[in-house]
Amino acid sequence: MSTEKTLIIVKHDGVSRSLIGEVVRRFENIGLKIVAMKMVWADERVAGEHYLVSDEWAKGVFSKAKVAAESKGLEFPYDDYKSYADNIQLMNREYLMEGPVVAMVFEGPHVVEIGRKIVGSTEPRQAPPGTIRGDYMFDSYVVADGNKRSIRNLIHASGTVDEATREIALWFKPEELHSYQKSLDSYHS
Ligand code: GDP
Ligand code: MG
Repeated sequence: MSTEKTLIIVKHDGVSRSLIGEVVRRFENIGLKIVAMKMVWADERVAGEHYLVSDEWAKGVFSKAKVAAESKGLEFPYDDYKSYADNIQLMNREYLMEGPVVAMVFEGPHVVEIGRKIVGSTEPRQAPPGTIRGDYMFDSYVVADGNKRSIRNLIHASGTVDEATREIALWFKPEELHSYQKSLDSYHS
């Protein structure tokens, strides 16, 4: 089984809420291996390249937010998916640059999927108890959009293996990624 890497970032709201240790604990508890970790205050280049707008992502965020609003019987007042998504990207860049964040890389089989499971869905309102976003935040699409800001959800986790590869290269130099053995490695060599 080939191993994967994923990028996990405790965003500044998580740092400010003293949740760095809690995030690390949840990943370490299940045995995942940390291969890189640092505190960074992202600049315009890193924040801009971290959040890229693909057509697929733009359609996805638009429809997620539309379905969430309509399922609550609320009107969704936007009709152009591209400008909705561009606007979220601008807000996301501000969110990522508002203070220092903690960036980490975890390694292991299925680690991208497992990382998303630990973190929970984008909207804390929907993220189940037991997930980081579900346990430590309550924000929603409706409230965040109404206040013209990104959803506050404490943490970033790569969504796919390709996304992880691109994001890790953006945040870390190759020499900042370490290779070492842990006892659990023998189960998936
Ligand atoms: P993630 O992978 O779960 O973080 O979600 P995405 O990659 O789709 O979006 C990146 C970030 O943009 C999310 O973590 C939220 O902070 C923010 N975001 C996504 N969709 C919306 C939205 O519809 N409205 C607002 N206000 N923020 C959003
Ligand atoms: Mg994402």
